[in-house]
Amino acid sequence: MEIGTVGIVGAGQMGNGIAHVFALAGFDVVLADVSQDQLDAALALIGKNLDRQVAREKIDADARDAALARIRVTTELSEIGPSDLIIEAATERETVKQAIFEDLAPHLKPDTILTSNTSSISITRLASRTDRPEKFMGLHFMNPVPVMQLVELIRGIATDEDTYRTLLGVVDKLGKTAASAEDFPAFIVNRILMPMINEAVYTLYEGVGSVQSIDRSLKLGANHPMGPLELADFIGLDTCLAIMNVLHEGLADTKYRPCPLLTKYVEAGWLGRKTQRGFYDYRGETPVPTR
Ligand code: NAD
Repeated sequence: MEIGTVGIVGAGQMGNGIAHVFALAGFDVVLADVSQDQLDAALALIGKNLDRQVAREKIDADARDAALARIRVTTELSEIGPSDLIIEAATERETVKQAIFEDLAPHLKPDTILTSNTSSISITRLASRTDRPEKFMGLHFMNPVPVMQLVELIRGIATDEDTYRTLLGVVDKLGKTAASAEDFPAFIVNRILMPMINEAVYTLYEGVGSVQSIDRSLKLGANHPMGPLELADFIGLDTCLAIMNVLHEGLADTKYRPCPLLTKYVEAGWLGRKTQRGFYDYRGETPVPTR
């Protein structure tokens, strides 16, 4: 199937990046969110990130202008229904995602492909609540989307070959690289990454190291570009906790139990960069550890 129009639900960190790369690759994009403020912020950020690509001579000014002209925003979910491809990138909560797919149902074209950018939730289960499990897949982008090369492709139990091939073609058109993962909790990237982040939070919780020494150790001792706590703040601590809960419940193994300190930060509303505070405080010139 030929994909021309793409509807994206959720204009947070991931939704804006996904809109950016699709528009730049020539797709017509409609970006939906419940919050007009999030939509305004997303458009401003896409403009800023495209400007940076122009300044670095990765794209020219015409490509930037054309990409911006291809993005429309809306608070009405019904407006994205008639897209060829829908990418759900809303908050990592199963009930939120299910409600979005239910609300979209009456507005879809018969051949609209549905995907979720979920980091961990069962694709088979999300698909089973729609009228088209064979046209449903996990399309998992990495953060920040314009920079990261990988897209994880996750087939649910019912996903058909046509849908998979179509999405392989889409990833190729975006200039990105696909890796296929089976539909088990958190797939590949987060199955490996999130327990490491959770262990870093336990290391902090148990007083083995400070925020700075934990991040410095992994950066300089394991050659990671970011420390695990810095990375957790970048991903969003609510998303990290949600993924650990999916691993814990889905695999029923205590080795995945979320660290109580991670829960405490989320309960405080200290979700990382997006709320200006997490393991670091971002309100000043340079980030300062919060403990
Ligand atoms: P975010 O908190 O930055 O953004 C979520 C957005 O969803 C918000 O703008 C919110 O207003 C919107 N939203 C909530 N309910 C909605 C609804 N009913 N209809 C429309 N919009 C709604 O979160 P994020 O980091 O962008 O994550 C979004 C998804 O992408 C999650 O499933 C997450 O697991 C996944 N993901 C995140 C990362 C990451 O590093 N943050 C990486 C890969 C995948």
